[in-house]
Order: sequence, then C-alpha cells, then structure tokens
Amino acid sequence: MTLLTFRFAPSPNGELHLGHAYSALLNQQMATRAGGRLLLRIEDIDITRCTPEFEAGIFRDLEWLELDWEEPVRRQSEHFSEYKAVLDRLIAEELVYPAFMSRGEIRAFIAETEKRGRGWPRDPDGVPLYPPVDKALPMKERKRRIAENAPFAWRLDVDAAMARVSDALSWSEFTDEAMVATRAVEARPQDWGDVIVARRDIPTSYHLAVVLDDALQGVSHVARGQDLYAATGMQRLLQELLGLPPPRYFHHRLILGPDGRKLSKSLKDTGLAALRRAGMSPQEVRRLIGL
Ligand code: GLU
Repeated sequence: MTLLTFRFAPSPNGELHLGHAYSALLNQQMATRAGGRLLLRIEDIDITRCTPEFEAGIFRDLEWLELDWEEPVRRQSEHFSEYKAVLDRLIAEELVYPAFMSRGEIRAFIAETEKRGRGWPRDPDGVPLYPPVDKALPMKERKRRIAENAPFAWRLDVDAAMARVSDALSWSEFTDEAMVATRAVEARPQDWGDVIVARRDIPTSYHLAVVLDDALQGVSHVARGQDLYAATGMQRLLQELLGLPPPRYFHHRLILGPDGRKLSKSLKDTGLAALRRAGMSPQEVRRLIGL
C-alpha cells in the first residue's frame, strides 16, 4: 500500500493564527495516525502580497508548534514554468480566454444589469460572477488587445470546460477526521463562473497551482478549512480537465474569534507569534483549539 500523504499549505501573506495552528496540527495528527507523511507547501504565487518576512514567520511558528514535515518544502513561486506549461495546454484547448474587464468595468456592467431589475449571480464567496462579455470577443480582437498590451487575466470558460468532462463531477469527503467513512459530494464548479486561472504576469492562480501541486506531490488526503469546501468543486473540474488524480478531502471546522467570526490574518491578538510573545506554550495552543 502506498503511504497516505497529507499537506499543510499556508500562504505567506500574513501571520499564522490559531486557525492555521489547528489545520497544521490536525494534518499532523491524521498523518501520524495513518502512518503517513506530512508535507509543507508555501503558497506564494501572489508576489505582491507574499513576503520573505511572513514566510520566515511561518517557519518560526511551525517549529515552535513542533510540527514535523518532510523536506524539501515546495515553494510555488519557484515553479512558475511548470504552471505555465499547463496554462499553455488550456490556452491551446481553448478552455481559457483573455478577460480584459477592469474591476470598475465589471461593477458598471453589473450595476447596469441590476438597474434593469435583473439580479446578478454571486459565487459562493459572494463575489459577482464575471460577465460573459469577453468570452464573445472575436479572436482577432483578442489578439489586437493583447498586442496593444491591454491588461488581462486568463479565465476558465466554465461552460466549455463542463462540456468537456462527460461524467457528473463529485468528490470524496471524509465524514470526520477519523477517516473511516466518506460521502460523495456533488461538485458545482459552475457556481464560481469563469474563474481566473492565470494572470498576465503570474502564469497561475490559487486553483490551478493547488491541483497541480497536490498531484505532483502525490497528496492523497487534503485536510483543510471548511472555508475551502465549495472551492473543491472548481478544483475537481480542473483535475478532470488535466487528467490529475483527485485526492480525498476533509474540510475541518474553523477556529472562530471571540466575536464568533472567522479569524483573519489582520487579527494580531490571535496570531501565533503574539501568543508566543505573551508566554503561551505550544501545549496551551493545542488545548485552546481542542487538539
Ligand atoms: N494556501 C491556502 C490558504 O492559505 C490553502 C490552500 C489549500 O489548503 O488548498 O488559505
């Protein structure tokens, strides 16, 4: 039997908080109990928001928590050429298109539609779906705009992509961290609309990099926060398009702040570094998050 492989995949665009500690330590616990491996992946494709200081902070916090991961650590920013090769495939297969609308133009388009009394669909995170304007642009016009250096992002044509995969899409979700039972969850990538797959200057996106890396690293089990549950539908679609084996998933509970809201990276008081400075021990962190 091949070893079960888990991963913890933080983004160095802020400080780790109790929610990250829970995710990292839960992955460690699941891997240990299954006699499997734990990998660490630094998801730093957003080169404007990710910094070496935040990355150093991640390592400090995880070492303090005594997380035990396998080397080498995969750093996504070192693999842009691999993502680019996959993006080129999607471009050649006409599953992605250049999307030129600015945020202001998207807002104006939606406001105009809503003024006429029609609602505009939102994705599971509440963000309005991308209008179908650029999808209709003739190839000549696309080429002209790109040649003129117009800013754009590559977006997935989700309808074309769904038409490409014949079978109904689902994923296998564990019912709890004991990993005894799973249930099949219907994947609904269309709920996200035409998501960004790559940017002009960064040849990938969260969804694309995550499915590729999980496959390249042989990740068999993805245990991550409930906030990424719906995103799994889009990732299943990309896996099917690219012929990647789907891992099994467990979306764990989120650690909430004192106000009952999800922790954010700007909440300094629940940051692991702040708790450490305040004299908290790793054992107390575990107790606090119920591990
Ligand atoms: N890098 C993502 C985050 O920090 C997690 C991605 C994942 O676990 O799939 O939210």
